[in-house]
Amino acid sequence: TAAIALLGGMLAYFVSGRALRPLRRFAGQAEQVETSNLSEIRLDEETLPELRSLTHALNEMLERLSRGFDAQRQFVGNAAHELRTPLTLLQTQLELFSDEHPDILPESAAFLDEVQRLSRLTHALLDMSDLQSVPRDDVILLSPMIDEVFADLALRAERSGISLSREGEDVTVVGSDMLLCRMFFNLVENAVKYNRPGGMVKVDVQQRDGQAVIHVVDTGRGIPQEFWQSIFQPFFRVDKSLSRELGGAGLGLPLVWEIARLHGGRVWVEESNDSGSVLAVTLPLSASITDTVRG
Ligand code: ADP
Repeated sequence: TAAIALLGGMLAYFVSGRALRPLRRFAGQAEQVETSNLSEIRLDEETLPELRSLTHALNEMLERLSRGFDAQRQFVGNAAHELRTPLTLLQTQLELFSDEHPDILPESAAFLDEVQRLSRLTHALLDMSDLQSVPRDDVILLSPMIDEVFADLALRAERSGISLSREGEDVTVVGSDMLLCRMFFNLVENAVKYNRPGGMVKVDVQQRDGQAVIHVVDTGRGIPQEFWQSIFQPFFRVDKSLSRELGGAGLGLPLVWEIARLHGGRVWVEESNDSGSVLAVTLPLSASITDTVRG
């Protein structure tokens, strides 16, 4: 009797395990749905043929949510677009005025700073709202792109005595030249901005397991561990007044996050302490974002 009971138990275990497998695959697919991938991700309607109409209804719900997010993004884009022209005009007029009046009052100089900050913020919002539409089919050699970013930031680094260097291999990826350049610019700019006078910034590029792995290393003030994830949230700054003073708007890293994700990659803080930080980015060698998640 015991043997039959044991055999029966084992049989039930295997049969139920087998029967539940598609459900587990289905749950695995659902777990991959995030606000950041709503437009690309859809559940596979063939995983659970018995529940096809439920899967279909869930996919339709994802579609509606995605449209809702798109509308929100479009609203931000339109608002930023409307603000951009008057702000640029205001900034140009104020710059002209301050050039003609070098004895400008400190209050007016502060006003000009604020207008410049608002203008940068508007540009960043506009960039963030329009990322999806940028084609991502350029073949890009990463080393010259990083050298280009160094050249753009050389003056700023030199002013604080910070050295910029690059190490590693020649790696080629497929993506948007403009967006990836922007991504590396933001990372290196932060590494320079939050560094100490006389510090260094190093970018290391490697190819590993079909991916480009890039490390941006600095000798700056570091990021407290509790903020390693928050810094990728829009408008989050560890030290608000310092970021403001340095001309930041808290949108640099969210843009980096979004660009890495759009290319099928990832960005994170690998390590950080009070003698510096290492930010890591991975990018697939050829961007491939699947339309449907397969279990
Ligand atoms: P910001 O415009 O303020 O630089 P970011 O989104 O680029 O905004 O970065 C968010 C915050 O993360 C910054 O305000 C800063 O506090 C912190 N941060 C980013 N990169 C670094 C770094 N390399 N070292 C230290 N802190 C950093």
